[in-house]
Parts: sequence; C-alpha cells; structure tokens
Amino acid sequence: MLISSCFTAALKLPLFCKGALLISLQIPTLKPSARQNHEYWMRKAIAEAAKAQAKDEVPIGCVIVRDNKIIARGHNLRETSQDPVGHAELIAIRKTARKLGSWRLLDTVLYVTLEPCTMCMGAIILARIPTVVFGCYDPKGGAAGSLYDLSSDSRLNHRIELLPRVLESECSKLLSDFFMALRTRKKKAHCS
Ligand SMILES: [Zn+2]
Repeated sequence: MLISSCFTAALKLPLFCKGALLISLQIPTLKPSARQNHEYWMRKAIAEAAKAQAKDEVPIGCVIVRDNKIIARGHNLRETSQDPVGHAELIAIRKTARKLGSWRLLDTVLYVTLEPCTMCMGAIILARIPTVVFGCYDPKGGAAGSLYDLSSDSRLNHRIELLPRVLESECSKLLSDFFMALRTRKKKAHCS
C-alpha cells in the first residue's frame, strides 16, 4: 500500500525490463521536507549496504528508526554466516525486538536499500512494522510490488505503508556496480 498522505502527485508509469512489460508502478512525488527526512535515514541504510559490500556480500542494508533514532541496523550476511535467511531486514528486525523487549515493533519505520523479499515482508508483517521505505525495486524477488505485494493483502491481518524509490539511483547503482565487478572477476578467473 503506497503512502498517500505524503504525496503531492502520483503518476502511473510502466516499468520495462528486457523489452517485456513487467509491472506498472505508481511513482510517488514527496513533499521536499518528507523526502529529505527519508533520504537522511536511507543514507544510513546505504552505509550498512557498504559494510556488506566490504565483506563481499551483495550490498543490501537496513536501519529501523523510531522517534527519530536508529534502534537497529543490519546488512546482508548470507555468505559470511552461510545463512539462507541472513537478510539485512531480518537481522535488523531481530535486533530491534531484542532492544525493545517486544516482538511488536510498533511506531517504527524500516528503511532498506532493496525492495524486501517474501520472507522479509513476512517478518515485517509478523513484527507489525507500520511503514517500509525502500530504495529500488527488485523485479526478480520483490514482495512489495514487483512479484507480489504483501503490504496490502486483505487476507492478512496487517497492512504496511510503502514508500518506494527513495534514493533509488544510489541504491540501484550499489547493486549494479557489485554485480558488474563480480562478473569481471569471474571472467578473469575463467581466462587465467
Ligand atoms: Zn529478504
């Protein structure tokens, strides 16, 4: 469910990938003050993504904010911990619950550089996180509008306000640079 109160305008724009129409997404335009605030916290999530990259992990970072303070941070650690569920969001959600002493993460905002997957959207619903802000869409695995939208499924008992595309180009560049470097490394290894 896209946040509507912060928007001054919303355009329908088709998203194309490899010539095929994948999804039609709403492109929100935020009021400058709201956008600056979200961009501030998204930069903290990007800093987390950089920590993942330094460990040769896919650069995805997350912070959870309440009352204008970061409660917990997380970055992707799937390779380091050989943990299939070692996603940035899950790590940050667990840390936040421990810090707050509650599984209900009420009044929090989760910032993540990439659209959450089905598992992370499931965890966000279970944790009752009211708002999710993310950087770029993930057409191959996103569950907040790309492949699925678990934010507003009426069969579930929790709705999530979504705010996509905050610092989208920075978040997406992190990933494309990482995968480009990986492909170059693999090519070199193959040729040598
Ligand atoms: Zn995930």
